[in-house]
Amino acid sequence: MNFDDLKLSDPIVRSLKDQKYDKPTPIQAEVIPAILNNSDVMAAAQTGTGKTAAFVLPILHKLSDPKNAFKGHQLRALIITPTRELAAQVNENVNTYSKYLGTRSTAVYGGARIHNQQLKLRKGVDVLVATPGRLLDLYNQKSVNFKNIEILVLDEADQMLDMGFIHDIKKIVGLLPERRQNLMFTATFSNSFRALAKELSERAIEISVTTDGETGANIEHYVHPVDKSRKAELLIELIETEGWSQALVFTRTKHGADRLQKQLDKVGIKAQAIHGNKTQNNRMKALEAFKNNKTKILVATDVAARGIDIKKMSQVINFDVPTVAKDYIHRIGRTGRGGDEGKAITLVSSDEFRLLKDIEKLLNQTLPRVEVAGFEPIEVVPSGDKKKKKNFNPRAGFNHRTRSKNRKG
Ligand code: ADP
Ligand code: MG
Repeated sequence: MNFDDLKLSDPIVRSLKDQKYDKPTPIQAEVIPAILNNSDVMAAAQTGTGKTAAFVLPILHKLSDPKNAFKGHQLRALIITPTRELAAQVNENVNTYSKYLGTRSTAVYGGARIHNQQLKLRKGVDVLVATPGRLLDLYNQKSVNFKNIEILVLDEADQMLDMGFIHDIKKIVGLLPERRQNLMFTATFSNSFRALAKELSERAIEISVTTDGETGANIEHYVHPVDKSRKAELLIELIETEGWSQALVFTRTKHGADRLQKQLDKVGIKAQAIHGNKTQNNRMKALEAFKNNKTKILVATDVAARGIDIKKMSQVINFDVPTVAKDYIHRIGRTGRGGDEGKAITLVSSDEFRLLKDIEKLLNQTLPRVEVAGFEPIEVVPSGDKKKKKNFNPRAGFNHRTRSKNRKG
């Protein structure tokens, strides 16, 4: 299948050529025809599989179709995202794919001046990307009008539910015209996602493209057992010996992210942290600097990083084991994109063993324990299986491959 088979209009296909996309991803191949066919859709595919284009392309196609094009710019498609970064990123995607069309789009989110957003809305937009809270503020101030909305998208819906946006979402949905197309995207199909999707639309068709264990087969996972007090030291050792050009490091707390960033800075490793206590501008700048290779290490909390598209991350490091097993999948969704090889490395102290077990249960595989010479923990992390631990010298390079029990072929 290629993009021509999807019957998207020429200006859209041209923008895809500019992006050098040669064919639709599996989720795009399934979702795009369904949306063009006016179906309501609930779709799940792991992070990094191109879900944004899966809804943006057919939306642009429909809005620009001469048969039902509008004069001027009326708000006809509303895309709701959980975080500010994601809103900005999805809006960038809309702009990229509509560059040969007359469609106008903007993003509205908290942490940025509402006045500027009101000005843009007043000039008229066809597509609006919004976080729930700011959208409701703008609605209450009568700065946005929902009466022409034909298409509603909930992007990264599982995350919106995790972040407690359910009431805001229901409130927004209650303000929209009843006759509309509902499109819901998620990285993981949870029961709460299904319940929300069913509530929004009885007739939504379910499309799911997930790999076994829901993580890419090209990702190598392993665990370094280490005492809690020596995690930073071990991370620095790995950064210095493993030859990583860049790495994304996850911490559990905002405070932990800041502390680690300072520790890295102290030894001359350029690092920046993103989390909920940073201003919007600050977060955007840190992300930009990382994307442009100006910082080596980006330290992030789960909420700040989910859904964010960072290209070609060869390794993701879990400085702390995530407390919610599903977050492990979200975190490592940032590596091994587009068939590239990726590594997911988790630093585990003895108190985190139970959390690690939860993740292994979810992945249906035991992650190899790899002790680093000089960092063997005093407080032992159980091995999880009967196999003997391997000794690991970071300077010797590393080529251990994870075997997933349920990987096919
Ligand atoms: P998701 O929402 O599923 O996590 P994104 O929509 O953020 O994924 O897309 C991940 C990356 O894949 C983006 O950098 C995007 O530009 C790229 N991408 C999307 N569609 C294609 C395609 N058909 N071919 C190649 N790359 C693509
Ligand atoms: Mg996405």
